[in-house]
Amino acid sequence: MKKIIEQLKQIVSSENVLSELEERYVYALDATNKQNIENLPDAVVFVETVEHVQQIMRLAYANNISVIARGAGTNLVGACIVKAGGIVLNFSKMNKILEINQENLTARVQSGVIVGDLQSEVEKSGLFYPPDPSNLKVSTIGGSVGLSSGGPRTFKYGSTKDYIIDLKVVLADGRIINTGSNTAKNSTGYHLSQLFIGSEGTLGIVVEALVKLIPKPEGSKVILAYFDKISDATHAVNVILENKLMPATLDIMDKKTLQTVEKFSPAGLLTDKDAALFLEVDGYLASLDYQQNKVVELCQRCGAVEVKFSKNEEDAQKIWTARRSAFGACAKLKPNVVAEDIVVPREKIAELVEGVRKICEKNNLLVCIMGHIGDGNIHPNIPLDLNDENDVKNYGQAKDEIHQLAIDLGGTLSGEHGIGCEKSKYMTNAIDDVTLEYMKKIKKVFDEKNILNPQKIFFSER
Ligand SMILES: Cc1cc2nc3c(=O)[nH]c(=O)nc-3n(C[C@H](O)[C@H](O)[C@H](O)COP(=O)(O)OP(=O)(O)OC[C@H]3O[C@@H](n4cnc5c(N)ncnc54)[C@H](O)[C@@H]3O)c2cc1C
Repeated sequence: MKKIIEQLKQIVSSENVLSELEERYVYALDATNKQNIENLPDAVVFVETVEHVQQIMRLAYANNISVIARGAGTNLVGACIVKAGGIVLNFSKMNKILEINQENLTARVQSGVIVGDLQSEVEKSGLFYPPDPSNLKVSTIGGSVGLSSGGPRTFKYGSTKDYIIDLKVVLADGRIINTGSNTAKNSTGYHLSQLFIGSEGTLGIVVEALVKLIPKPEGSKVILAYFDKISDATHAVNVILENKLMPATLDIMDKKTLQTVEKFSPAGLLTDKDAALFLEVDGYLASLDYQQNKVVELCQRCGAVEVKFSKNEEDAQKIWTARRSAFGACAKLKPNVVAEDIVVPREKIAELVEGVRKICEKNNLLVCIMGHIGDGNIHPNIPLDLNDENDVKNYGQAKDEIHQLAIDLGGTLSGEHGIGCEKSKYMTNAIDDVTLEYMKKIKKVFDEKNILNPQKIFFSER
């Protein structure tokens, strides 16, 4: 590797290559809860241009070296964990918004652009980039494309996959492709953008994205509705939709989550209710009161025992702060917390929540359930101590059962966090043999040498 590291330094200059042991440790893991480092990268390279990425890929391809693209490294599924050594490509210096085109309603960005920065920048022109992973202040466009990240707004506006018009991708051998075109519509051949979205850096390295923008809604209002039974909350969601309302957000927190938030970041939440719905309505200012009143009325009709709603921006922010602090609060219950991400058809959500509760109880684990009920996507957050053998054993069992439950209910393994190496063993349960065979063939077509983020998504590659 010494010779390769010298060549890397020639490509990007010495200050952009990290190869000391301590530095390599920093990039061996991601935000996934892990006790041990499995493998270290041989080098971490800060790329600044598309040509840098091309030259590095040519070098890696010629020498059979693994390459792991890395944004902010905040994924929760081991998608950036180093499995076979190699080069970590760090995109934090490719963080320019290249163009905001108000006529075409598009933005062209480099992969290292922070999602929240893009949002703030386009909002200055009254435009809107909706995908909103809750850690959008740090997560990158490259990483969100890698996982098709979503968030509370996915229900109305869709996730990353719905906002990508074109990707510039450096292939394993250093050549470049564009997966789409510059146009809003495109029915010209295979839709390669969708193939790369969610591919977790296993098919190519995304260097630029052309994203779709929409006009920013004029305003929004927030509603917080409490229910004594989680099934009443899910019923309320159905009734809201039957009444042709389309909230921007339809999120839920269960009792344990409400109690945990109140314990660690008091926000005035009620802690004796089984569940709370967090709803946001948005759109033209003239429509907001109508939408809010209607949602409040429907929640009450479906058994909401208490409904609060924002009268101004300050109220709204208070409610949102409570929702956003949920994961952090759960992390304080035990030394570690594992965030799961399962998804089912919306009609099965009450069964999923009940089932997850039972599985965790049976396996002596705490669980705080929250998530995007409108999308059928929940995050069971499991606080535990990874140094405690029993917790580790119980969690392993519960994790298998939770994922199987989602599949049995007609759902699947991930709504927005991806597969990485943490869920790859369940792929054969979730996806039929022929589909999986074709997914693996696609991987081979783009990466015959298996150098792009190996041992991710599929279980046994190397
Ligand atoms: C506190 C917390 C809250 C979160 N909330 C949410 C949420 O609400 N919704 C949600 O969807 N997720 C959430 N996540 C998961 C994750 O952080 C996000 O999905 C985020 O968008 C990932 O961005 P990143 O830059 O950190 O990507 P990384 O973790 O760096 O990378 C993710 C994947 O993309 C690949 N990749 C990165 N850059 C490129 C590139 N240039 N080319 C090709 N592949 C690339 C990587 O190899 C990896 O496979 C959360 C995580 C944390 C820690």
